Amino acid sequence: MAPAASATPVAVSVWIGLGANLGDRQATLRTALTAVAGLPGTRVQRISSLYRSAPVDAGGPDYLNAVVQVETTLAPHALLVQLQAIEQAAGRERPYRNAPRTLDLDILLYGDQVIDTPTLTVPHPRMPERAFVLRPLAELAPDRVPEHLLAAVAAQRIDRVQDAGWAF
Ligand code: ATP
Ligand code: CA
Ligand code: CA
Repeated sequence: MAPAASATPVAVSVWIGLGANLGDRQATLRTALTAVAGLPGTRVQRISSLYRSAPVDAGGPDYLNAVVQVETTLAPHALLVQLQAIEQAAGRERPYRNAPRTLDLDILLYGDQVIDTPTLTVPHPRMPERAFVLRPLAELAPDRVPEHLLAAVAAQRIDRVQDAGWAF
């Protein structure tokens, strides 16, 4: 039998990648996490360590990266719209592809769902080639990051930032 229209939507585990390489990067990431935690129907489960990585296919300052795991009842596209609003609030501009940015929020995994639409592709298609995604994601969801993928990006420069201030 189909569930009643008023049924509570099921919360799904979602992993979101965060990146910043302009401005006060760590402050921006913290503000973004607070905003994500405040999204409707959304609870933060875990936050990875903070990482510093060199830009890939682009110039500009080093990035700070992290991954956050949430449980949310927001549907995938609704979540994307909310994340883009958080990026906008952080002053995100898109002058050209891979341009330096105050804040980037990517949906890496949405439960086990495979999504392929013009505005949203999940799992994030470029995840397998990016150490700055795989390393923090592997902390939170090691079963979703095969060892051979980590090995393939081992040459990319990325450091875990030892910063007590990052602990939430
Ligand atoms: P990349 O996608 O290679 O990480 P980017 O993050 O710099 O590049 P953006 O300019 O932030 O790219 O986003 C471009 C578009 O990507 C967005 O408008 C959005 O519709 C689309 N998009 C597709 N899949 C996703 C996803 N899984 N998470 C976030 N945005 C996505
Ligand atoms: Ca991105
Ligand atoms: Ca993005």
